[in-house]
Amino acid sequence: MSECLFCKIIGREIPTDFVFEDQEVVAFKDINPQAPLHLLIVPRKHIETVNVLTPEDAPLISRMILAARDLAKRFGVAQSGYRLVVNVEKGGGQEIFHIHMHLLGGWC
Ligand code: 5GP
Ligand code: ZN
Repeated sequence: MSECLFCKIIGREIPTDFVFEDQEVVAFKDINPQAPLHLLIVPRKHIETVNVLTPEDAPLISRMILAARDLAKRFGVAQSGYRLVVNVEKGGGQEIFHIHMHLLGGWC
């Protein structure tokens, strides 16, 4: 069994409401929001950090960004604006070593 928190969330071991899911990507609200809207966009595939991405992962990363774009629209922040953030390694603020993108918005 994986010890990865996000793998547990994706595997429904830890109950979490998904605001979006498809075959490759899920999204859910951050448990400790840093903005009025704070979503996490997470690939189902366990990839530890941006540093270990391969060229084969390129379509997956595109899907994450497009999912974020769609979620921003659905949650009403597309026009006001939002931030997409990927923290890389401990010095970059990464706490969960399963790659993910933060969608932050809703300040105005
Ligand atoms: P990182 O610092 O790795 O870029 O971001 C990890 C994020 O995951 C943090 O913003 C943190 O609040 C969030 N997080 C940690 N544990 C949980 C959890 O159990 N559920 C949810 N929904 N978010 C979590
Ligand atoms: Zn994982």
